[in-house]
Amino acid sequence: MPKTASNLGFNESTIDTFQSAEPPLLPADSETSQLTRLLKEYFTQADIEQVWVAYRYAAAAHADQTRRTGEPYITHPVAVACILAKLHMDLPTLLAALLHDVVEDTGVTITEISKKFGKQVAALVEGLTKLDKIEFQSATQAQAENFRKMLLAMSQDVRVILVKLADRLHNMQTLDVMNAQKQKRIARETLEIYAPIANRLGLNLIYQELEDLSFKHLYPMRHRVIAKAIKVARGNRKEVISKILEAIQQSLAIAHLEANVKGREKHLYSVYRKMANKATALQQIHDIYGFRILVKDIPNCYLALGTLHGLYKPIPGKFKDFIAIPKANGYQSLHTTLFGPFGTPIEVQIRSEEMHKIANTGVAAHWMYKTTDANLTALQQQTHQWLQSLVEIQTESDDNYEFLENFKVDLFPDEVYVFTPKGKILALPRRSTAVDFAYAVHTDVGNSCVAVKINNELAPLRTEMRNGDNVEIITAPLANPNPAWLNYVVTGKARSHIRHYLKTLQAKESAHLGERMLNMALRALHVEPSAVADNLWRKVIRDYGAKDKSEILTDIGLGKRVGLMVAHQLTAGIPALHVFENTKPKTSTKLDSITISGSEGMAVQFAQCCRPIPGDPILGFINKDKGLIIHTHDCPTTLKFKLDPDKWLDVEWDSDSKKLFKVNVRLVVMNERGMLAKLAAGISDVGSNIDNVSVEEPDGSQYANVNFTVQVRNRVHLAELMRNLRKIPDVVRINRVKGVHNEEKIQ
Ligand code: MN
Repeated sequence: MPKTASNLGFNESTIDTFQSAEPPLLPADSETSQLTRLLKEYFTQADIEQVWVAYRYAAAAHADQTRRTGEPYITHPVAVACILAKLHMDLPTLLAALLHDVVEDTGVTITEISKKFGKQVAALVEGLTKLDKIEFQSATQAQAENFRKMLLAMSQDVRVILVKLADRLHNMQTLDVMNAQKQKRIARETLEIYAPIANRLGLNLIYQELEDLSFKHLYPMRHRVIAKAIKVARGNRKEVISKILEAIQQSLAIAHLEANVKGREKHLYSVYRKMANKATALQQIHDIYGFRILVKDIPNCYLALGTLHGLYKPIPGKFKDFIAIPKANGYQSLHTTLFGPFGTPIEVQIRSEEMHKIANTGVAAHWMYKTTDANLTALQQQTHQWLQSLVEIQTESDDNYEFLENFKVDLFPDEVYVFTPKGKILALPRRSTAVDFAYAVHTDVGNSCVAVKINNELAPLRTEMRNGDNVEIITAPLANPNPAWLNYVVTGKARSHIRHYLKTLQAKESAHLGERMLNMALRALHVEPSAVADNLWRKVIRDYGAKDKSEILTDIGLGKRVGLMVAHQLTAGIPALHVFENTKPKTSTKLDSITISGSEGMAVQFAQCCRPIPGDPILGFINKDKGLIIHTHDCPTTLKFKLDPDKWLDVEWDSDSKKLFKVNVRLVVMNERGMLAKLAAGISDVGSNIDNVSVEEPDGSQYANVNFTVQVRNRVHLAELMRNLRKIPDVVRINRVKGVHNEEKIQ
């Protein structure tokens, strides 16, 4: 039985009547008091009270759980909330942070959260719960990229990702309690997935901490060595650094520039990465130390740059202007490297205070400075560009910032990311179905798929893929592509393979029909087909420039060649001896008729205009490319062809056919309730199926026209069906339609 708030012994009325912002009930641990302090910086009293309501709700839901560290579980959501409060995230984000694990871990439902905290918070918690369910397995770079996109695509709301990153940061901060293997797995996932996302969103502080923590757990030895070496270097160079710092401060003061100059240390992992990439020793990495100069605005950035270049010579080619051309994650600064006084290169970053805030908090700056910053539009614009660059689509800039109102953004509108059973991620076009997925896995899987399991449940093959789905295709050895798939596949690969299969199939079926047509023609010339020698065939194949015998047979079946002409050529050299003995030679070359059973597949088609059924007198017309098309004798479409004997064939029905054929029937009925149901029952009573139905109800008339396409075995079956329908009292008239009622427009 799922646990709910009430059977957890949770008293709802306590929450509702709970009003004080700093209740005595709160445990006085460091995290909660830290959260209180952080919230007071920017929340109103009413908002803070809301946060405590969520806190108490989550604390009760997690009451019987502890973390591996031994602390009560609630300390984790509180720590996550603290990280987000430092970024001054809004109220819904803070509530979602406190509630982010309750659905996953305690059986509280999204509906309950929605009732208690509103739809917005519920949507954020739901997004987080969804992210928790997917797990990154493969470690190739392309897969990591896809996984990052999948996470972003599933998040929809950027705040979901921000909570997720804070969640991951706290888990990384407390990773020591896990076993070594788990530490490494989580650290690798963080390094490959979450740190790059934080970087992309410009959340520099979180990004660097995630990288350093991952580095520490993935390569504990290297981490220790580098940390120690940097510490030593720091001690050795202390004097040098303070001298340079003084010189910089002095020259800026002389130029009357108000500036804040600080020594700066690179984060460990970036030092390691530099060593690994360039295969250099630590001693050679000089820019472990650098300086950062904060000034009040952009003009001052360039003035400070000029002053510094006057102080020390810049190293050519090292100057970068990220103010004019910001990085993709929104980062802005001037970078330059100078020849220092003792031959050491000095790396300097110059930026304004505002750039510094954004460099630290990235996309979160949107929330952080929203209320105080006068430069709101610029920030909105930047956030907008961010999301745009994530989407990697270039649309004309519009001044519609509506998305900032609900923060919902479809980050990858053209793609959907799903898992194979082996944990590989496939990127498919949006609206792709299980069949597209099957062909994306492998052509053979596509060609033989029969069913699909999505997240372990059977689903129809036409089901559209959703982000994060686990998809498993079920194949059968003898299964074949179904022409109906063409109605819903969206990928070119699936489409072309299905088409290719159908074409091959049609060629096979046409070859079969072509052989029957040729044999008939040969017999009309009094030649037994088996008597045609191989060398005659070879000659004809050569003369036609065909590949082989079956190509010629296919051509006959498709109506591209006339059977009788091929027969003439094949019999050209056959002596009279091969002519049927004991039969009187016929003088005419009139062909016998060919029998049609309905099971010829695509080589034989039944005309839509007259829809012939067994029992109808029929004619076969040879249509180039389409093959043999069967019409009724009296079909008006046939009139113009009848004059050309090369174009038509005598055909007759195979009396043993068990197939069902489509036929059109039109009824005039009294327009009343339940009529259609009565008609449908009357049709199924006689063992027929309805293929299609349309109803015309002329205005103000008491009658309605009903058009059915039904499936029958033959004329006798059809007569039985019509008799049965006529018995229904309100059926006024019924007749078979030979004409194109499918294309008739209903007014
Ligand atoms: Mn968590």
